[in-house]
Amino acid sequence: MQYYKSAKIPVDVLGSAYDLFLTTDKEEPRFDKLNCDGFCDSISRRIYVNCNVNDAALSDPRLYIFHTIKHELVHAFLYESGLSTDFEHAHRFGHEETMVDWIAIQMPKIISCYRNLTMLLEPYKMEDDNTCQTGPKETSDCAESEKTF
Ligand SMILES: [Zn+2]
Repeated sequence: MQYYKSAKIPVDVLGSAYDLFLTTDKEEPRFDKLNCDGFCDSISRRIYVNCNVNDAALSDPRLYIFHTIKHELVHAFLYESGLSTDFEHAHRFGHEETMVDWIAIQMPKIISCYRNLTMLLEPYKMEDDNTCQTGPKETSDCAESEKTF
């Protein structure tokens, strides 16, 4: 069953213009050739994701498609970061898939952690006059922060 309409969606990856193609295995024969539901063609800066997935094998096909998009985006970010190949393993070309999947799975939690940390750091922001070098300006906040951290 097809879960998303076929579409071409522009995506900015570290300043490089990528296109995310929501497509199907009927429209894109490389899914069968590569035995996958998604791939990142970093040379042409195109990401292809199969939205016609086998729902008999998946409890949440849309979540699976979204995960595939995240996974392929990680490949794009690695490529645009100069990490397109794994030179430490000469017999194997490309990214270490376990690491790519780890980033794709943990990305929402990392973003959430980063946002929470940004809020937690807010009371410790220095004013322009820099009267306190080690923490919040209020003495009581400094004492409270020692209990927390
Ligand atoms: Zn991959």
